[in-house]
Amino acid sequence: MCSTHCDVFIAGAGPAGLAAAIALRQRGADVLLADARRPPIDKPCGEGLMPNARHALIQLGVQLDSHDGAEFTGILFASDQSRVAADFPNGPGIGVRRTTLHTHLLNRAQDLGVRFSWNTPLVIKPVPKEPPTLAGEPITCKWLIGADGAASRIRAWAGLDSADLRSRRFGFRAHYRIAPWSTYVEVHWGPLGQAYITPIGPEEVCISAMSRHAGLRLTDILNSIPFLRDKLAAAPTTSTERGSLTVTRRLRRVTRGNVALIGDASGSVDAITGEGLALAFRQALLLADSLDRGPRRHSAAQDPHTSHNQPGSLALYESRHAAILALPQRMASLLLLLDRHPRLRARTLRVFAARPALFREFLAVHVGEQTLPRFVLHHGAELGTLLLAPR
Ligand SMILES: Cc1cc2nc3c(=O)[nH]c(=O)nc-3n(C[C@H](O)[C@H](O)[C@H](O)COP(=O)(O)OP(=O)(O)OC[C@H]3O[C@@H](n4cnc5c(N)ncnc54)[C@H](O)[C@@H]3O)c2cc1C
Repeated sequence: MCSTHCDVFIAGAGPAGLAAAIALRQRGADVLLADARRPPIDKPCGEGLMPNARHALIQLGVQLDSHDGAEFTGILFASDQSRVAADFPNGPGIGVRRTTLHTHLLNRAQDLGVRFSWNTPLVIKPVPKEPPTLAGEPITCKWLIGADGAASRIRAWAGLDSADLRSRRFGFRAHYRIAPWSTYVEVHWGPLGQAYITPIGPEEVCISAMSRHAGLRLTDILNSIPFLRDKLAAAPTTSTERGSLTVTRRLRRVTRGNVALIGDASGSVDAITGEGLALAFRQALLLADSLDRGPRRHSAAQDPHTSHNQPGSLALYESRHAAILALPQRMASLLLLLDRHPRLRARTLRVFAARPALFREFLAVHVGEQTLPRFVLHHGAELGTLLLAPR
């Protein structure tokens, strides 16, 4: 058992917690990371790392290549009537099994000297001034980072639960043994939701599906999409199906006193965007930058709720965090609009299929290589006219 005294204590060793530990350790902080589970930690995920996630990983010293999974060159949208694909403007993404990603992040963190405490849930009593404990010991640290996922208890304890919940859906994933038939992540739009297929190896794909409808399973969604039903009919599964909620949530604040939230704990986007991991990695780099630049003064872990005690360095994280989340949340809103309105969806996919260059530009916005206002300025009128035109 590690001593619970450290510069930075991170609760949760998922991708966000590990990335934060790496980024902070790269800047010389003494980091203790605790998780309720043992590595490698699995979780329902589409397992696609967008190009911007890969770029952020490289800054964290983690380089993934085709030995670790399977690269994909872009995104394909398909419905029963339309298909359109485009390459990313900023290099390929990569599909990597979640446990493989976890192992890479963990190896990097271990090499840097991060301290770990596995299989030890952080115990948080619903008493504001009482510090969380780990294996019975109170945490004493300069900074406490909540990387404990979408249902974060650190968030509630620190009084940061005030949020705008924009969407809430059900997500699933399973793996199938079948050679990827496409170099794209294919997003198939069906009547019950979307299913996307991420190549993760020469003979394996990860299938993830999202739906607004409760009580469904992955196979219900796949069977409602004839292309996937037929394609996967003879393919054996290589993992058991797992599911979880996927939400688009924006918090009013992500820091208080010496507490900062990161990853899904700090707000999230619907899984359809494929941006959750990229967000976590970018936030980790920002957090380390903020703490490194700001004054490293000791603020008592015992008193995290006094907002006047806000260290300047976390103020920087607080102010820039929203900017990182803004575009993915806007894209989530647009994609969920298509989910809710089948006729708008059918028209939009038809327009993109007829004008692939427009889809390419839309994808460039999605990965942050083009701004949304610029896209609207240059293509808004054309897109509007095509969407409104009689068939
Ligand atoms: C169906 C689905 C598909 C998705 N597909 C993609 C995709 O293709 N690409 C993408 O980029 N993103 C995708 N996402 C989003 C991505 O999975 C998340 O954004 C990402 O997992 C967030 O990482 P995290 O570290 O913040 O949280 P988590 O991965 O949830 O990790 C939180 C960690 O905290 C630990 N923990 C919790 N409470 C405690 C406690 N009290 N004490 C100690 N430890 C604790 C947990 O054990 C866990 O290890 C998908 C999500 C879903 C649901």
